[in-house]
Amino acid sequence: MPTYHCPTCTKMTRVDQREDAVHRPFCSERCKLIDLHHWFAGDFVISDPLTGDIGSLDPLTDDPSADA
Ligand SMILES: [Zn+2]
Repeated sequence: MPTYHCPTCTKMTRVDQREDAVHRPFCSERCKLIDLHHWFAGDFVISDPLTGDIGSLDPLTDDPSADA
């Protein structure tokens, strides 16, 4: 069963189905909005250009190379 840590509150979150992970990588709407606030406030920035093919990543797999 896929699990992940919420980057805002670090709570371990389990998902039974893809439909249960609507807020992933966050555990809840609240944590998602807290993260969005940090982006709007300028606390978070992207400092390096994005590289690689992110389109091929499975959103419920923590290790993208696992099914390769
Ligand atoms: Zn959270």
